[in-house]
Amino acid sequence: MQKNTDYDLETKLIHQGHSPDPATGALASPIYQTATFAAHSVEHFEELCRTWGYVYSRECNPNLTELESKLAMLEGADSAIVSASGMGAIASTLLSLVKTGDHIVSADGIFSHTRLLMTELLAKFGVEITFVDATVSDNIRAAMKPATKLVYVESPLNPSLELVDIRAVADIAHQNKSLLIVDSTFCTPILQRPLELGADLVVHSLTKFMNGHGDTLGGAVIGSRELIELIKWPGLCCFTGAALAPNNAWMIMRGMKTLDMRMKKHCENGLALAEFLTSQSEIEEVRYPALKSHPHYELCQSQMNGLGGGIVSFRLKEDIHGLTRDQVSRKFVNSLKLTTIATSLGEEHTLVQMNGENLIRIAVGLESAKDIIADFRQALDAVHG
Ligand code: PLP
Repeated sequence: MQKNTDYDLETKLIHQGHSPDPATGALASPIYQTATFAAHSVEHFEELCRTWGYVYSRECNPNLTELESKLAMLEGADSAIVSASGMGAIASTLLSLVKTGDHIVSADGIFSHTRLLMTELLAKFGVEITFVDATVSDNIRAAMKPATKLVYVESPLNPSLELVDIRAVADIAHQNKSLLIVDSTFCTPILQRPLELGADLVVHSLTKFMNGHGDTLGGAVIGSRELIELIKWPGLCCFTGAALAPNNAWMIMRGMKTLDMRMKKHCENGLALAEFLTSQSEIEEVRYPALKSHPHYELCQSQMNGLGGGIVSFRLKEDIHGLTRDQVSRKFVNSLKLTTIATSLGEEHTLVQMNGENLIRIAVGLESAKDIIADFRQALDAVHG
């Protein structure tokens, strides 16, 4: 099936890049669990190498090709490359695009490991990084320099759930002849398509909502053929070697067939939980982009299809029954029964994580909203016990 047909997204999620196995007719794609591929002559081998044929699975594999085609279609792009994890994609991208003397403007509050990659690795090689509050686009404009090679943002930010105006930031980056890279892991293309808003590259941790079942790692970078080629060789295929395993690509593709319906359910549950929390006397603030009280509610309407996503963050009040906020938060989180204390997000289980500033981050799962809310209600009751 070619992309840009009139099929709806739900249909494309199932059919894009897929056809029954020509050898056997198997409708589910076979898993090409092989490291290497046989050529029938030296000339054939040379041709495969020249044309990105199937030679070696660190560089190319049919399961990866199918997944890459789906991802490019979803983001409205020419090209995509998948990787062993989200960090594999981000590291391969940044290491391929910047060199000593370049400057990066990055949103403050990005995923902590991406920040570490910039401050501990890129800085060591003479790349300068300026972190700014990217929720105010003018802060990015003020930080731009002639040497600024790229602007790097996430939206929503994690765990503050503030939004960055991708269209405005893309304009600023391009006026400076810089690239804009957006990590859109929290949204998936069901909610937000950064390339259509002007970004040059979008990165994803496929480990999260895209796979959706918390059972494998994966990552991707998506954009123009020219930029993806730059990241692919020698970056991802040789320098980082962060290739996705064929079996993991197959699992992610299976998860992605239901991405549309899962994302809508995550959003439905997220909104229901956020509204419940807003009405509770023990809670000081709730952050969820689709709540009218969120400072970027209007941007959520235009940039995220009006859907808030599957993550809710909130802070309990200080001094409940003489306890500090930290003590109350620990008591609350330890009282949750259905909800699991674990890192990560975007899977069927509801997960909770507490960060250093007592902001409690909920990765809302696919259970019934009634049961999730009942769990939070009993944990709030337990705070008084
Ligand atoms: N980007 C965001 C926004 C994330 O939350 C994460 C992981 O939590 C990553 C990237 C890294 O992805 P992975 O864990 O697949 O390497």
